[in-house]
Amino acid sequence: MNLLNQPVGILTGIGAQTANRLQKLGLWVIQDLIFHLPLRYEDRTRVYPIGSLKPGMTALISGTVEFIDVLPRGRKSLVCHISDGTGFINLKFFHFTANQHNTLKPGTLISCFAEVRYGYAGLEMVHPDYKVIATPDACITETRLTPVYPLTEGLSQNVIRKAVRQALDLCNQQPELLTDWIPESILKQYHYPALADAIQTLHAPDESVSTIALQNGSVPALKRLAFEELLAHYLVLRITRNKTKAWQAPSFPETATSNTATRHFIRSLPFKLTGAQQRVISEIEADCRKQHPMMRLVQGDVGSGKTIVSAYAALLALTAGYQVAVMAPTELLAEQHKRNFSDWFDGFETHVVYLTGQLKGNARKEALQALEDGTANIIIGTHALFQDAVNFHRLGLIIIDEQHRFGVHQRLALREKGQQDNIRPHQLVMTATPIPRTLAMLQYSDLDISIIDELPPGRKPIVTSVIPAERRADVIDRINNWVGKKKQVYWVCTLIEESEVLQCEAAEKTAETLTQALPDVRVALIHGRMKSAEKDAVMQDFKNHRIDLLVATTVIEVGVDVPNAGLMIIENPERLGLSQLHQLRGRVGRGNDDSYCLLMYQAPLSDTARHRLGVLRDSNDGFVIAEKDLELRGPGEVMGTRQTGQMHFKIADLARDSALLETVQQIGDDFFTQAPQAIQPLCDRWLGASTEYSEV
Ligand code: ADP
Ligand code: MG
Repeated sequence: MNLLNQPVGILTGIGAQTANRLQKLGLWVIQDLIFHLPLRYEDRTRVYPIGSLKPGMTALISGTVEFIDVLPRGRKSLVCHISDGTGFINLKFFHFTANQHNTLKPGTLISCFAEVRYGYAGLEMVHPDYKVIATPDACITETRLTPVYPLTEGLSQNVIRKAVRQALDLCNQQPELLTDWIPESILKQYHYPALADAIQTLHAPDESVSTIALQNGSVPALKRLAFEELLAHYLVLRITRNKTKAWQAPSFPETATSNTATRHFIRSLPFKLTGAQQRVISEIEADCRKQHPMMRLVQGDVGSGKTIVSAYAALLALTAGYQVAVMAPTELLAEQHKRNFSDWFDGFETHVVYLTGQLKGNARKEALQALEDGTANIIIGTHALFQDAVNFHRLGLIIIDEQHRFGVHQRLALREKGQQDNIRPHQLVMTATPIPRTLAMLQYSDLDISIIDELPPGRKPIVTSVIPAERRADVIDRINNWVGKKKQVYWVCTLIEESEVLQCEAAEKTAETLTQALPDVRVALIHGRMKSAEKDAVMQDFKNHRIDLLVATTVIEVGVDVPNAGLMIIENPERLGLSQLHQLRGRVGRGNDDSYCLLMYQAPLSDTARHRLGVLRDSNDGFVIAEKDLELRGPGEVMGTRQTGQMHFKIADLARDSALLETVQQIGDDFFTQAPQAIQPLCDRWLGASTEYSEV
């Protein structure tokens, strides 16, 4: 085994306790230490003239003690005034000993290292590291910047510095331990340093490295590592995709029966499919006729009509005698799908079962039984579909809606469930989160992508306005008028905390006050803590217009479809990401009438917040909004931080490094022919044992 894969405990000075603490930082083996990069650096390579110091700097200085004093004012403190001829500074100690008092006698030459800040009497350093020295530059002990690592409780900088140092020394002594898998031609072309140099530079930069580049992450050493990490992730997904293409899948052949069924289905729809829907349907159909599993992502903005496309795919599986599983991220949406699929397939021989975490007892047993013996051919549910107890009789197609809410791993796990004798089901995943192209390339590089880039005809853009909460009274009037026209309204409550309890409480309060303020309006409440049957009943009432105003938490974010509701008020929109707001807003604008979204913010708004809400006001295009969101908030928000199982990087940062992605794709594709031997080691290095994608 490569020495770098040995546990950190084999290094000198790392006992069981330290090893445990290192593990908390994800540092298990020696190699992990090598890729554990400093958060920032301290500069002990040179002595700053005191006259050049500025507050906020952390600097090494040396000077002579001029006087020393114990100040009784406020908290008792020891103040030591030192100067070096260019300026003076005060050292301040709140905890001090008599010995310290004696050492810092006037006339003594000392060096100090600490952050500089403003004090009562000019610049000061509080509790600096200090030393009595013989000559002014005797304090320079380092020729390189000192790394400051991320820590965890009980772990000190010194311990981790020593551990990393040992790991790096090992690599210096035995360069073969750390193979550079990136071909030299590529390093040259992109001006990347070799792996060992990059690592050395980042852990212990010398004077040739720009501190600014280190701070803003533009230093080539860092870019190189980020590039390599992104490349490894890309390769893993590509491998998955290649393997998938080699697997067997049930083919859904074109037969007289299937043709009759699909024709009948299309004809019985209350609308004509858009060109984009037809195109995507034929892409899906072509995939399903093959003997290899489809892995297709359908991307389409909110309201573009993805559900019907997936229903068509389901029909192909059903007519070929296979089961279909439909997974949605929320119960609300799963309910809606259950209803839609049941309606659409009314004239066909289907038996739909519904499975969520809330289904218990006999009902659950029956549902599971029907799936296992094959009497049920469509199962719709939430992630409860992953449960061990779920066994399929003959699963042919998996449909995952709003896929951004699920991670790559969940997506793959469900497919494993449906595997039978090496035959794996087709998979269709849908998302309304139009993530920027570069990110999509990485995150979805195991998928084929179809885009529904056309909305059903007659849709008008949603008119969005940004208004302060003080205008609540006007908003209430507007609701009254709107409801007077027999139309319906959403009122969405948001909260900063991801606390569902608080969010639900806030929504309950809002529903109460609105009920009082709007005596002629039928107000109802829906939130995530209600029982599934209750939610279902409320949603049903809203759909059937027995409710005028629905007060909701962000549970209605995805999927919910009630075309007569054309007005939405979002309270405190400044708390949500743009893509999430765009999703929420997508609940309106589903009919042919004008629709409105009022973003009712709490003043004062920060400049960024104003800017962000402005983006939403000015655009109805999910792609534009996602690009802006990436620019303004970073990829975590765009790809959904709440999403489980999303990609985690050690070094790469998609906001900082997104410019690398294009190169990653090109080079990654070339790797399969030009450096095939490097692929596995690279994937192991960066994804290690977590390569759950890989059995796969
Ligand atoms: P999303 O893509 O956001 O999941 P849905 O599938 O929920 O969108 O569709 C939004 C609404 O548009 C639904 O009411 C659906 O019945 C309707 N719809 C879908 N396709 C068309 C079409 N081609 N013409 C008119 N209405 C359509
Ligand atoms: Mg949808």
